[in-house]
Amino acid sequence: MDTLFTHVSVVTMDENLTVLTDAFVGVTDGKIAYLGKTEPSEQAAHTVDATGMVMMPGMINCHTQLPMTILRGYAEDCDLQTWLENSIFPREEKLDGRAAKAAALLGIVEAVRFGTTSVSDLYAFSDETCEAIAQSGIKANVARPVSYFEGEEAFDFASFSMTKEAAALHKKWHGYDNGRIQIEMGIHAEYAATPETWEAVSRYAAENGLGLQVRLSETEQENESCLERTGLTPAQVLDCHHVFDGRTAAVHCVHLTEEDRALLGRRHVSAVHCPTSNLKLASGRADVVALVKNGVNVALGTDSAAASNNLDLFAEMKLAALQAKELHGDAGSFSAQAALMMATVCGARAQGREKECGMLKVGMDADLILLDFTQPHLIPCHDLANHLVYAASGHDVAMTMVRGKVLYAQGKFPTIDLASVISELQTYAIGKVFGDGKDEA
Ligand SMILES: [Zn+2]
Repeated sequence: MDTLFTHVSVVTMDENLTVLTDAFVGVTDGKIAYLGKTEPSEQAAHTVDATGMVMMPGMINCHTQLPMTILRGYAEDCDLQTWLENSIFPREEKLDGRAAKAAALLGIVEAVRFGTTSVSDLYAFSDETCEAIAQSGIKANVARPVSYFEGEEAFDFASFSMTKEAAALHKKWHGYDNGRIQIEMGIHAEYAATPETWEAVSRYAAENGLGLQVRLSETEQENESCLERTGLTPAQVLDCHHVFDGRTAAVHCVHLTEEDRALLGRRHVSAVHCPTSNLKLASGRADVVALVKNGVNVALGTDSAAASNNLDLFAEMKLAALQAKELHGDAGSFSAQAALMMATVCGARAQGREKECGMLKVGMDADLILLDFTQPHLIPCHDLANHLVYAASGHDVAMTMVRGKVLYAQGKFPTIDLASVISELQTYAIGKVFGDGKDEA
């Protein structure tokens, strides 16, 4: 046994939602090898006394745009379209691969600091993002979003720049480090491409057994314009063009009709709920209770740090629970356990990783985190799940482990040289993106 955690409280998130107190968890060759109330007989190379600590599965953030950490806090207090057009797009134009990689590393540092062990990224500069992911040890499903507008060069999957990039990414990175990196296909959104583009992208995903990430019904305007053009909702249109044929993660799902939700359930599409981003940009509120009632697997995402300001999935869990209660006028409509499931088990399912992570169980990858429950704001503790959702935050994470390897502990990041990442941001990336100092809008 490589590592043995002793005297730890464990929120396993297994099928019975088993919680163990004063337990022992052993890790061997990157997998959970032991989990139980009695001390295992096998000797461990390394023992961690986890008295006062709570262990849970590493959290799974199903919507990030890692390089966008560089735009954190740059533009606030405006709606999505104004925010994008006046502030975000002009700055993104200045971003290059080198700056994007530094910003992606910063995003990964932040994610593991807050207890995230796997992310789904939907952004440009995917190759540089994969380099950062490879180096860091975090798991990731990476998709290069494709957008295509009529009037550009004629669309041809093999020669169009974005699909070419996506295919190259697939060849280079898919399955890297025993599947730690998975490449998926990406569609920016219904409004940002054409039916033949969706079909070509979906076909490539199907032919190569890849998942697919797409934004869906983030704003009311997106729905209205789609209805006007096609007479159908974005969910219906995308479904007609095979976007939901494989394992698909639909991000946002704010403005769905009841028929849309039933459709997603029927087609086994996972919805990725990003409550902070949707509320802050005043996009609206996704009805996760209604999604779940329709059999939809609902995962959680922070969205980019430009939209939600940090990558703390604990904040998203709490907000998801509070928002669902408020939306339904019923405090019992959404439980802490449901929020924890979204951040773990359902996230793993959305990523197609349910056999390897999302719960703590013998044989699963040792993707796990420890939280320090000796802090004043976590005393007394009557129920671990309630505290994890309503009282804890990412700052309480004391250790983050992926496949048995520590990525964060005691303020240190063993796989990432944080000082050099910050220096690269300060001496290169921030100047590259903000060098002229003022908005062009
Ligand atoms: Zn996003």
